[in-house]
Amino acid sequence: MRVAVISDIHANLHALESVLEAIDADPPDRTWCLGDLVGYGPRPNEVVEIVREQADLCLVGNHDLAALGRIDLDDFALDAAVSAHWTQAVLLDENRDFLARLSSTAEVDGAQLFHASPRDPVWEYVITEEAARDALERTEAPVVFVGHSHLALAIALLDGQLGGGLAPGGSEADVSEGRWLLNPGSVGQPRDSDPRAAWIDLDLEARKVQFRRVTYPVERTQAEIRERELPEALAERLAHGV
Ligand code: ZN
Repeated sequence: MRVAVISDIHANLHALESVLEAIDADPPDRTWCLGDLVGYGPRPNEVVEIVREQADLCLVGNHDLAALGRIDLDDFALDAAVSAHWTQAVLLDENRDFLARLSSTAEVDGAQLFHASPRDPVWEYVITEEAARDALERTEAPVVFVGHSHLALAIALLDGQLGGGLAPGGSEADVSEGRWLLNPGSVGQPRDSDPRAAWIDLDLEARKVQFRRVTYPVERTQAEIRERELPEALAERLAHGV
């Protein structure tokens, strides 16, 4: 079975469409989404509608919970809070209802999935060795997925040793030995200095993971951010993948 794993779309419709087009060129059996469908970006309703249609499983992220009014925006940086307020105002009821039904963790086909981390499925960034080790120690599945940091990662725990790290576009990992913590990176707001939209292609039988990237029309998403008078920094960062 092959699975496409997407995460952190952040209302970037053009990035999502480009990723789905690339995925559809060789369709997987399943598509899993690790959350943060909305927040930051200009097209929250369209993104939620597409993910509702296409994903077999979807988690809820901190930005989705913010759009539902379920977390305090004081915990957000200013640009995130401004976009969360805007998203709250424009999100349609049916899309709100869909997000409200989701959980931030899941276990499926022998994999464990978290929006952020096993220790804190909503907020923790797994970007240190300690956090990666903790995530693998709190889980049992051979393959554990996290999103949230917008950094593509492949980290292995083998014979008590932690290895791996950032996973650039085009890289592959053989996950047949040891246990693995994987982050597909972000569809809609990559932060590893590669502005291309990111996702993972996982082959559960071959136990192979491919870190995929695709270009998308960044300038269209930037124009939409500006039309909606969302913070300029949210448009600018997309060009640089930060
Ligand atoms: Zn996110």
